[in-house]
Amino acid sequence: MSSAGVILAINLSVAALFTAAFAIVAVSNTSDRVARWFALAYGFGIAYLLFEFALPSQADPRLVYDCGFAAFLGAVAAVTVGIARRYGREVPWGLLLGACAAFVLLNHLAYELGRPSLLRMLTYQAPYALLQAVGAAIILRSGRRQAMDVALASLFALSAVHFLAKPLLAVVTGGPGVAPQAYIDTDYALYSQSFGAVLQVGSGLLMLMLLVRDMLVEITMRSETDALSGLYNRRGFDARAEAAIQGSRKGGMPAALVAADLDNFKRINDSFGHDAGDRVIEAFASVLRAVGPERAVLSRWGGEEFVALLPGTNLAGARLFAESVRGAFATLPVEGMPDGTRLTASFGVVQHRPDEQLSDLRRRADAALYDAKQAGRNRVCVSGQSAGDGMPEHPLATATPAGSAPRPGRRDRAG
Ligand code: GH3
Ligand code: MG
Ligand code: MG
Repeated sequence: MSSAGVILAINLSVAALFTAAFAIVAVSNTSDRVARWFALAYGFGIAYLLFEFALPSQADPRLVYDCGFAAFLGAVAAVTVGIARRYGREVPWGLLLGACAAFVLLNHLAYELGRPSLLRMLTYQAPYALLQAVGAAIILRSGRRQAMDVALASLFALSAVHFLAKPLLAVVTGGPGVAPQAYIDTDYALYSQSFGAVLQVGSGLLMLMLLVRDMLVEITMRSETDALSGLYNRRGFDARAEAAIQGSRKGGMPAALVAADLDNFKRINDSFGHDAGDRVIEAFASVLRAVGPERAVLSRWGGEEFVALLPGTNLAGARLFAESVRGAFATLPVEGMPDGTRLTASFGVVQHRPDEQLSDLRRRADAALYDAKQAGRNRVCVSGQSAGDGMPEHPLATATPAGSAPRPGRRDRAG
């Protein structure tokens, strides 16, 4: 076997390994819409290499030559589709498929130009270069600029240049042979396939690392998010709250914490069913999200208890936030609840003190929440103030939840 033949065999093994690796990722994580495209790309790569191996034995190589070109074009196109999916871009299927069909036809026609012809080589290589350049552009225009994204975009750009430089390589190395069958024995094939191997391994590894990183991010996010409300759970809150407080302090800004607990929630479950209770939890979370400032760290602490950390917000701002949530929640229609059912929640509000630990801040918010429950629920209490102090009561504050008289408060640490 010629030297280029050996490199082709190595490329074949590498393509098979990457096909298997991406297929395993795609099968083990069915929500991954990228890995299957990369698996398909390397599958096309295998087909291309098999056509290259088949070429020397062809009496009329034209069909196999066309198929080899189409298979490699399929590989590069599948990578571009995977990249578009990964970076959140719509795939213009009509344009992509139309362009690929046109490239295959042009390459078929350019065969007549004979070998080696610059125009014919460009007709063969330019489509690959174009698709790789599109891949690089998609990454760079996505705005995601972590090291791995930049590295992959650079590799695609390098690959595009490498395809366009092949006619030059052909001149330097003595050309791709007088006929397609002779390609595999040429120095040009040796260098071309060697560069190809390096780029194939490099981009394959980077794409694999990218998918692994995506999976890790998704798993971490899931472990820090409450499935019902979509808010952070306790772990997610703890992971962000301290940094948010420190960020505010460094900028000379205050930070505040609001603890909330739905009133008489057990009664809602008992009267309307657990599913209706779940819808109420979702509804309260949606109000928190709608009212909360963008930088707020919102969490479902457990059960029907919620905590919101408000960076850059003082006590008055946090109290206004809590009152707004309370007012919006009281008027929110919830699926599964009879019309006119009043939903209420109680709130404890605190402002962070210099050097105060998150656990102490949380304890003070809990104590204020306890005061709100003691004072009759459906109200906002500020740490260190009695239940009626400060801001005027919200007009809805005295309303009684439908079907229930306010119960005597108790220290509620549900969840
Ligand atoms: P209070 O006004 O004093 O807070 O009374 P409460 O009934 O809201 O508080 P309690 O702690 O007695 O009841 C909380 C209830 O929340 C009990 C529990 O079954 C229910 N709960 C906890 N998690 C969920 C959940 O995910 N879905 C539903 N539907 N109910 C939940
Ligand atoms: Mg409650
Ligand atoms: Mg509770």
